[in-house]
Amino acid sequence: MNIINTFSTTPLTLYPGHWLYNAGVIGFLRVLEEDFGYNVTGFMTNGCVKLDRNIFLTVSSKYNQLHFSDTKKELKVTGKNKFHPNFWQGSWDRTKLKLFISSLATATTANSTCSFCVHPLHVDEASLIAQGVPQKFFEGISEFNNRILDMKMGSALTESPNAAWNLNTVLPICHLCAYLLLFAPLGLTDMQHNEHIFVNSPSFKVIWLLNLQVQTVLRRTKSIREILGLSLVQATIREQLTLHRWTAHNVEVVVKRGDKIEFVTVPGEIVLILNNREIAHKLNAIKELTILRHVLDQKWDMLLEVGYRLIRITRKENYSDPEREYIREWLPYNASRDPEILKSSSAGKRKLLNIAHQLLLLHAHIRETLKIH
Ligand SMILES: [Zn+2]
Repeated sequence: MNIINTFSTTPLTLYPGHWLYNAGVIGFLRVLEEDFGYNVTGFMTNGCVKLDRNIFLTVSSKYNQLHFSDTKKELKVTGKNKFHPNFWQGSWDRTKLKLFISSLATATTANSTCSFCVHPLHVDEASLIAQGVPQKFFEGISEFNNRILDMKMGSALTESPNAAWNLNTVLPICHLCAYLLLFAPLGLTDMQHNEHIFVNSPSFKVIWLLNLQVQTVLRRTKSIREILGLSLVQATIREQLTLHRWTAHNVEVVVKRGDKIEFVTVPGEIVLILNNREIAHKLNAIKELTILRHVLDQKWDMLLEVGYRLIRITRKENYSDPEREYIREWLPYNASRDPEILKSSSAGKRKLLNIAHQLLLLHAHIRETLKIH
């Protein structure tokens, strides 16, 4: 029996876990897609990621530089570098790092624990040391520490409320996770002022789709809740994202500011509302953050009130200053994009009436979804 072939043909199944591990997997998938041309959404099934083990033979060709796509986020692992200083010391033979990475293709389940995954995988350490991989390298990656990921997260991890481990600074880690965690900085989206965010959930496909949208909605708002709301709306419309109730109740945004970690959530009911096709389309058509904000705050009845008030305004022959101010206050984006809606001309009234009707329909769809009649 050829053991290597047997291992090579069994795909690896990665299950979602701690957010940092999830970010590592997402970062790794981004590299597979952007640098190696894989269609990674095809790897996602039932919330998990199934990986052909031979992928590690392919990615080992880029053993020194994990990513150099047009995102300009360059990740190096050898010698002095920004994210992973001395993960592989500058003086060590770099081709042996390639050997380590390609050996992950034949890594086996080890009789050990890993703080990050359910099925720890280890390469044949003795054989690789015999082939020239430094023993010190294996000593360095046997525990989770800043050598694996210099994101100043050591303390944040053990202090974080959703960390799965005890308050113990020594976190055992398997060889596969030590490698995957290197990609975590690529899974996060950069904000301003040393702030990074990552949308986490119990499904890799949901994580993938939501973080993809985060990058497209960043221009519109800096509020984390609104970024999450807009991303949900966009993923629902563009990617036909469908969330199950349990997944919806476990969507969170991890915000990393310096070495502080914060978790931002919105209630599961709201996530389900934004994941409703009709509602997402209405919100997308109205295009107002003021309205999205009221949905996030569960102030549904305001939508009804604003809709009716706008309809009443369109019945006036001439709009007063306070009425124009009211339109501007509730529809700032539309008013700046198309000032006609501030005018009492027939075209202006038609446009305003259209938005007012969208608001009433939005309110009706939300009520229907909530079944609060
Ligand atoms: Zn592991």
